Amino acid sequence: MSVAPESGGAPERLRLMAVHAHPDDESSKGAATTARYAAEGVDVLVVSCTGGERGDVLNPSFGPGPTSLEGMRELRRSEMARAREALGVQQQWLGFVDSGLPEGDPLPPLPEGCFGLQPLEVAARPLVELVRAFRPHVMTTYDPSGGYPHPDHVMCHKVAFEAFQKAGEPSCYAGTGAPWEVFKLYYNHDFSLTRMRTIHEAMEGQGLVSPFGDWIESRAAREIPERPVTTRVEVSAYFPQRDAALVAHASQIDPDGFFFAVPRDLEADVWPWEEYELAESRVPTTLPEDDLFAGVRDVLGTTTTEGERA
Ligand SMILES: [Zn+2]
Repeated sequence: MSVAPESGGAPERLRLMAVHAHPDDESSKGAATTARYAAEGVDVLVVSCTGGERGDVLNPSFGPGPTSLEGMRELRRSEMARAREALGVQQQWLGFVDSGLPEGDPLPPLPEGCFGLQPLEVAARPLVELVRAFRPHVMTTYDPSGGYPHPDHVMCHKVAFEAFQKAGEPSCYAGTGAPWEVFKLYYNHDFSLTRMRTIHEAMEGQGLVSPFGDWIESRAAREIPERPVTTRVEVSAYFPQRDAALVAHASQIDPDGFFFAVPRDLEADVWPWEEYELAESRVPTTLPEDDLFAGVRDVLGTTTTEGERA
């Protein structure tokens, strides 16, 4: 496959796979981390489980969007191509169809054939195949709640967890390539209450209007348990790449909206990180970490990245 890593006499390149539900999730969760590692010479592969076909146009200045699933899929593919370039990463589609975000009381059933309704073995199979071809050392995805209750985000967690567990088992998923054991699995935590509060207070302290007031109130009221953070990756130098990738998803991201309401120098000052929870590790590591490849570099004997050597 085209994603297969290069082999040869050179020291093994580090490889990171970021598994996401829809096109645009890679730009709002862990985006600057992928841009940073790619710039440092790590092979980074973003996997988009679905085509985002049932996403609404969320940018008021975008105009009316396509009316068919096929039209939306095409639009989001072209947006994804620009985001991928902005982040400097590779990207692959798993080929499943967006489940949409069910709304109403009672909630309507999910549409026939969508990602959220697939049996786990069917949904995970193409990802296991991709893991066995790309051979990542580290994978990232969402926590078991999905991060928010979209059926595709919950399913994304399930398939990534399944692939992490089973890709190294020779007896599992026959016909999808040679087994490959991934060293570490992380969950993205870009929207923690702690981060929102910290940025909110910093903005109010400077007399600015924070976009997070309502969010913090409703989040706190729902008493969603905060997940543990084990790993903070310093990525402020890669905020411009993250922002360019967000803007590339023009139908989904309002350039005058929420994502761009925080002055970037303030953000770099008070929250220069993206955060992760180390969910599983097959290499020894010491918490807290500041690098997704902590422990992996020791095992592989790659203490520096390509970028640092150059
Ligand atoms: Zn999503």
